[in-house]
Amino acid sequence: MKIRYFDHAATTPVSDTVMQAMLPYFQIEYGNASALYSLGRTSKKALEEARRKVANSIGALPKEIYFTSCGSESDNLALKGIAYANKEKGNHIITSKIEHPAVINTCKNLENQGFEVTYLNVDSNGFINLEELANSIKPQTILISIMFANNEIGTIQPIKEIGIIAHKNNIIFHTDSVQAIGNIKIDVNEYNIDLLSISGHKLYAPKGVGALYVREGINFEKIQDGGHQEKDKRAGTENVAEIVGLGRAIEEIYQEYEKYNKKLIDLREYYIEQIEKSDLNYKLNGDRKKRLPGNVNISFSGVNAQELLLALDERGICASAGSACSTGNPMPSHVLTAIGLSPELANGTLRVSFGKDNNKEDVDFLVQSLKEIIPIIQKNA
Ligand SMILES: *Cc1c(COP(=O)(O)O)cnc(C)c1O
Repeated sequence: MKIRYFDHAATTPVSDTVMQAMLPYFQIEYGNASALYSLGRTSKKALEEARRKVANSIGALPKEIYFTSCGSESDNLALKGIAYANKEKGNHIITSKIEHPAVINTCKNLENQGFEVTYLNVDSNGFINLEELANSIKPQTILISIMFANNEIGTIQPIKEIGIIAHKNNIIFHTDSVQAIGNIKIDVNEYNIDLLSISGHKLYAPKGVGALYVREGINFEKIQDGGHQEKDKRAGTENVAEIVGLGRAIEEIYQEYEKYNKKLIDLREYYIEQIEKSDLNYKLNGDRKKRLPGNVNISFSGVNAQELLLALDERGICASAGSACSTGNPMPSHVLTAIGLSPELANGTLRVSFGKDNNKEDVDFLVQSLKEIIPIIQKNA
């Protein structure tokens, strides 16, 4: 059966060119990047080349990039690292109710350690309110962490303005940009960002590699003890092959940015139009335009999304109910709850996220399948 993959927000396949770029570093150039002999120096060179590519893609300096094992680790390092380094200055952190669990659960952990966290509300499209943000700032606020774009509903936050508010108040600004990198052009200076999280597997690099940008001059504590890799901020022998993959992937995605972006937007708009034209009763979640180019999140009333996913899977379609992290979890998604969706609608939510190998014919097949499957599920409900 042909697989039609519409879950690029959950993960992406490794692209051919990224795979080719990584391969030598597993069995030929396998030296430890800390070793002084030439085999090690080759790894070190590849590592620094990848660092340059990641930095270039966001308008940063290579020395401002720290490689990690995933987006979750980058978020942990950003939040805990800044919190621990600034605990004499203050103990208050501001974030939002719709962050990824890597941020929300890190905040919960910090609350258990005596930090105070404000979780900002979002409106029905998933936007935070800048006035509420400004009003939440206290003398002891040390960090604002707001995601660039939401992984479930695709909403893109007013990042520039958040950065201005943070800096006007001398507060450090972190953004989880795991979904946004590759899908939006990001310049850390233009957007007033101090720390930014990246993950490889959302942009055609492998799972298990990530990066954290930290603006030069901002002090943060390491959260893992060991060797002195990554300027003593992230212990552990560098995963050279995958770091090379991340560098290559991020460079490639921005080289092809205009084309990739247009393709995703075209698929997104085409899909939404086909749903609009159908007889299906639906609600589009997230802002109609200020959303990730490849994200469509739709709730269908009277539908159990788990049932829908299984029926789609029988036709080779991969999509997601809310977010992959909460699939199998009967609780409605915290994001859909925060935008005010009823549990009934939240449980009938299908997230589709397009990628570079999708085409219109795939979308036609998806829409046709939904038109056939949804009335049957609704009748049996
Ligand atoms: C996927 C994702 C993460 C976690 O990245 P991993 O590399 O899977 O740990 C964090 N934040 C957002 C918004 C994500 O979509």
